[in-house]
Amino acid sequence: MRSFTYERATDVPSAVAAVSGNGAKYISGGTNLLDLMKLGIETPSHLVDISRLPLRDIEELPDGTLHIGSQAVNSVVAGDPRVRARWPMVSEALVAGASGQLRNKASTGGNLLQRTRCAFFYDTAAGCNKRDPGSGCSAIGGFNRIHAILGASDSCIATHPSDMAVAMTALDAEVELVDAEQTVRRVALSDFYRLPGDTPHIENELRPGEMITAVVLPPPPPGRQKYRKVRDRASYEFALVSVAALVSTTDEGMISEVRVAFGGVAHKPWRSVEAEAALIGRPAAMATYRAAAEEAMRDAVGQGHNDFKIDLARRTLCRTLAQVAGAS
Ligand code: SF4
Repeated sequence: MRSFTYERATDVPSAVAAVSGNGAKYISGGTNLLDLMKLGIETPSHLVDISRLPLRDIEELPDGTLHIGSQAVNSVVAGDPRVRARWPMVSEALVAGASGQLRNKASTGGNLLQRTRCAFFYDTAAGCNKRDPGSGCSAIGGFNRIHAILGASDSCIATHPSDMAVAMTALDAEVELVDAEQTVRRVALSDFYRLPGDTPHIENELRPGEMITAVVLPPPPPGRQKYRKVRDRASYEFALVSVAALVSTTDEGMISEVRVAFGGVAHKPWRSVEAEAALIGRPAAMATYRAAAEEAMRDAVGQGHNDFKIDLARRTLCRTLAQVAGAS
């Protein structure tokens, strides 16, 4: 391991100022960053520990918005009674992620910024455009069972590993960011992450030194919510495919409100406007769900080992919709 210096930040302005210099990084729970440092994939010269900043509160605002401080740990957010009651898919997604110990340590902001679990990214002997731009992508033509079926490029076919971000994307969450000038801006989570294109090493819209200070969840639309995760084992495993869905139906059984996002299928949480368009105003019935699943996967492309994910995503969507909206 390379040597680095460490400081514990006491306030947001000094933390942002410290990380705006060359080679510094924020650390909070460290549940992903420390692994990356041990492997020599992340090599910060200075770490600024932001875990004890006063950014742990979860606050419900008068308009019904929930303001989740970026240092609120995953287990606290998952167990918050307001989250469980009004944004249950966020709670379900968090509980589906990692392990109890990791959820007690991992922060909300860190969850959003975790790196892909592509094995070649972690193997420093393999070519990887995300880790080492220009070195190629070992997953293309290699073992790519967990990789992307939507939005991939010739440079990278990695997926984003967060469950929480998928549910938050379905619910139109925004991230709150602050820079060295103390300018605060909000970015929709659906715009925060990038597709790989030719620059897979640039994963989001964070500017140099910017810190995530909060996630803002707007009041949810009416309807039942569900986060369903399909994985190789029942716990401590990343999604092969996941679905976050919200559906509301009329007394006549027509779909009046719907949100759909997929996890495990792309470089970012994948909001499916195609599925939503195919569902809204239609009967809550399996035929409708199957048609929506076809639309959602219309542009999906397998990479060989992961071809099965296309049908798995269709089936997972249908099953999730049937659970939240019923099926005739
Ligand atoms: Fe690297 Fe992306 Fe290719 Fe994986 S899929 S080897 S992260 S470039």
